Amino acid sequence: MANVEELVKLSAAEMGAAIKKGDVSSRELVDAHLQVIEAAEPSVQAFLKVSADEAREQADAFDAKSADEKAAMPELAGVPIAIKDMIVTKGIETTAASKILEGWIPPYDATVIEKLKAAGMPILGKTNLDEFAQGSSTEHSAYKTTHNPWDTDRVPGGSGGGSASAVAAFEAPLALGTDTGGSIRQPGALTGTVGVKPTYGGVSRFGAIAMASSLDQIGPCSRTVLDSALLQEIIGGHDKRDSTSIPEGPRPMVAAAREGMKRDLKGLKVGLIKELGGDGFQPGVEARFNEGVKKLEEMGAEVTEVSLPHLPYSLGAYYIIMPSEVSSNLARYDGMRYGLRVMPPDNVPQTAANMMAYTREAGFGDEVKRRIILGTYALSAGYYDAWYGSAQKVRTLIIDDFKKAFEKVDVLVGPTSPVTAFKFGEKTEDPMAMYAIDITTIPANLAGVPAMSIPAGLSDDGLPVGFQFIAPQQRDEVMYKPAAALEAALEDEWNGPIWKSLNASWLNGQAK
Ligand code: GLN
Repeated sequence: MANVEELVKLSAAEMGAAIKKGDVSSRELVDAHLQVIEAAEPSVQAFLKVSADEAREQADAFDAKSADEKAAMPELAGVPIAIKDMIVTKGIETTAASKILEGWIPPYDATVIEKLKAAGMPILGKTNLDEFAQGSSTEHSAYKTTHNPWDTDRVPGGSGGGSASAVAAFEAPLALGTDTGGSIRQPGALTGTVGVKPTYGGVSRFGAIAMASSLDQIGPCSRTVLDSALLQEIIGGHDKRDSTSIPEGPRPMVAAAREGMKRDLKGLKVGLIKELGGDGFQPGVEARFNEGVKKLEEMGAEVTEVSLPHLPYSLGAYYIIMPSEVSSNLARYDGMRYGLRVMPPDNVPQTAANMMAYTREAGFGDEVKRRIILGTYALSAGYYDAWYGSAQKVRTLIIDDFKKAFEKVDVLVGPTSPVTAFKFGEKTEDPMAMYAIDITTIPANLAGVPAMSIPAGLSDDGLPVGFQFIAPQQRDEVMYKPAAALEAALEDEWNGPIWKSLNASWLNGQAK
């Protein structure tokens, strides 16, 4: 067996190929990653729970299959994966990083988990996030703070900072995230990894803990574009248990990614989103982004600037629509059905309403409470039209902007995040500052279109920058081709993949 460092630095596709060739077993891969998790977790803290026993059992069950059975399974068969703790896993505690769900063991698997199990992919554990996926730094987790592997004094982004950090730190080759306003893509950008938000409805949300149902989408986190394509084809497709699921199979994303690796983009029309730049965008971010655009041009793409005039209003619309849906979805945590129950003190009437009030007061953190209050207000009689109604109208204008843009171009591009990874505490005192950096990712959620972030190199501060591609609805493959092309072109520029240049000190001493 190759040493641990060599193994965990393979791409997921390479791991899958090595398994198929019989060079490595799924169990060996699981053990290698568990070893790295043990070494990395004191400094990274990406996981809320490591499911070592379950992962080993799943790997052994896969390894015991016949060669014929294995050959018929997907390319990623046997490759381990980490799961954001916003997705329910049968028999494994699922908390959404909230005290209100502490100790809750789901009696069922999300559809995506069933699909991973059917593909023989062992689950390494549950990753950290902002409580109920609400935040952009993972600092709002009720349990722990995840550190960015590139600089452990900095945040990994959020809400899926755990999944992105685990993948960046070589604790897992792949992870699942959820993206309601950027929670897969922005942490991907801040940790130098790939993050994909599929078309709304392209991947089943059955078993994804609901945050804002009209925006939520499960998607892949990986180190390479091809790995995300392979994973999205496994988890995607119709599910009758999700009423918003698109009645169609996954798009040909793997073929598109492989096509992109040939670095020929002749005839591809790329639209540069005019509104995503300037004020509030770090110069280092814009520099790397512009270099990426030049590379696309060098590979034959026709790049033009495209205006989406209502984009600047997307933050305002999102931060009304999202909390409105949060206030409704989180009403189910009432102390009756799941997790925590706090009874009122003896001097307070022992009513159901009081029990719920005490449970919710103790169980929810400040950011979640802020959004529940905001959303309840926006939906209340007399204010509904002014707030929620107006926000929905703005959403329609944004959807129309995208439709018009896609009449002119095949794919849209912009920076994934206006900033690189920031220091702990830098934005927690000012919710508006935390919300403001979501401007780049939120539009795709409002419009339901697929979007992905790939690493575009390092900024002057030595931290990763994300390059975002946005494609038309139900055309996810369209973004995979240029993303894979740019990834390949940038490897020359950066002497290999950007994620490989991470100084992962915890891997020292792991080799044997
Ligand atoms: N940062 C966004 C928010 O706080 C994203 C959330 C998400 O995608 N889950 O709402």
